[in-house]
Amino acid sequence: MQSKDLLQLTEQFGSPLYVYDAEKIKSQYNRLTKAFSKVEKLRINYAMKALSNVAILQLLKEMGSGLDTVSIQEVLLGLHAGYDPEKIFYTPNGVSLEEIEEVNAMGVQINIDNLSILEQFGTKHPNVPVCIRINPHVMAGGNTNISVGHIDSKFGISIHQLPHLVRIVENTKMNIVGMHMHTGSDILDIEVFLYAAEILFDAAKNFKNLEFLDFGSGFKVPYKKDDIETDIEELGKKLSKRFNAFCTEYGKELTLIFEPGKFLVSEAGQFLVKVNVIKQTTSTVFAGIDSGFNHLIRPMLYGSQHHIENISNPKGKERFYSVVGYICETDTFANNRRIPEIKEGDILSFRNAGAYCYSMASNYNSRYKPAEVLWMNGQGHLIRAHETFEDLLKNQIPLPLAKKV
Ligand SMILES: *Cc1c(COP(=O)(O)O)cnc(C)c1O
Repeated sequence: MQSKDLLQLTEQFGSPLYVYDAEKIKSQYNRLTKAFSKVEKLRINYAMKALSNVAILQLLKEMGSGLDTVSIQEVLLGLHAGYDPEKIFYTPNGVSLEEIEEVNAMGVQINIDNLSILEQFGTKHPNVPVCIRINPHVMAGGNTNISVGHIDSKFGISIHQLPHLVRIVENTKMNIVGMHMHTGSDILDIEVFLYAAEILFDAAKNFKNLEFLDFGSGFKVPYKKDDIETDIEELGKKLSKRFNAFCTEYGKELTLIFEPGKFLVSEAGQFLVKVNVIKQTTSTVFAGIDSGFNHLIRPMLYGSQHHIENISNPKGKERFYSVVGYICETDTFANNRRIPEIKEGDILSFRNAGAYCYSMASNYNSRYKPAEVLWMNGQGHLIRAHETFEDLLKNQIPLPLAKKV
């Protein structure tokens, strides 16, 4: 996507605007499958909470992807987008037994992440194929040392509870067909990931009817220049070899599953905003844009650094700016950031706006959520209109106050 295309899209569809590049999503998908081409049975389940627009789900379905969902509503969206139930995985945490049963009745693969629900579900439905989410207590991000932490994490069944887990499975005679882990952090060090995988392999030996092993996700993508990213090719080489050896040992060709969100869609997205005002103070120059954390909350919530370009003046002289939103709160997107000179009316682009951006947007300050466009074959396709006043009123029920006489 070139700057002139992006500028044209903001003229056609207005700002702020989310734009996603279909080619980039495809190339990331192909990169991942290629890295694991030595594994006979590979399956990629797109973690749709990253970006859940139905058109994006359709695009990934066309490429052969399955879906990883975390709520019954995501399952419904996946079915609506045309996915077969068998292509959908359900990996919730902290949801009720009733919701899990409801999703199971739709023919979707369920993944259970605590012993209490496992025991209850296994007792009621011993024949249903179930996947178990393990917490290996390995942090795969940040540190180059293997750090066995996360003991307080709410996710998964602790690997230290394996004896109890095995006992529940034996007592209920339930049907365990898969094991799952998702460390959740950005994977910087492949060795740490492989170490966690060993824990999963070890646990897997306790179950005789496995069909798949799911290694979750957490692949890191670059957010700024010279940023580190997970070396997918290297991980592919090493994990494939180890996985194939495990299958031989286990005596069965298992399916290897990944459930990437960020890796597939983050870099494909750009968030385009217009500069409303340049405000000089005694300490800095503010660029105030026509958006806020109602549309993109990652910088404020996680301290994420989204690279910002001035696509109206890409070659301009660089100056330091604080880029801030229009919400009546401190909503700073970037502090002291070097950006080509900004004028009022310029269009800025936030990069890496594909994952966890629109999907975390809200109506705070009673602002509309923006439109979304998919850039495909050299054309912008509107895949979600921006909201209108009716959307703000939807489901609201005013009080039946008597008319003033
Ligand atoms: C969020 C989530 C993912 C995706 O994580 P990314 O970092 O976006 O790749 C995968 N699996 C589960 C269970 C998740 O909750």
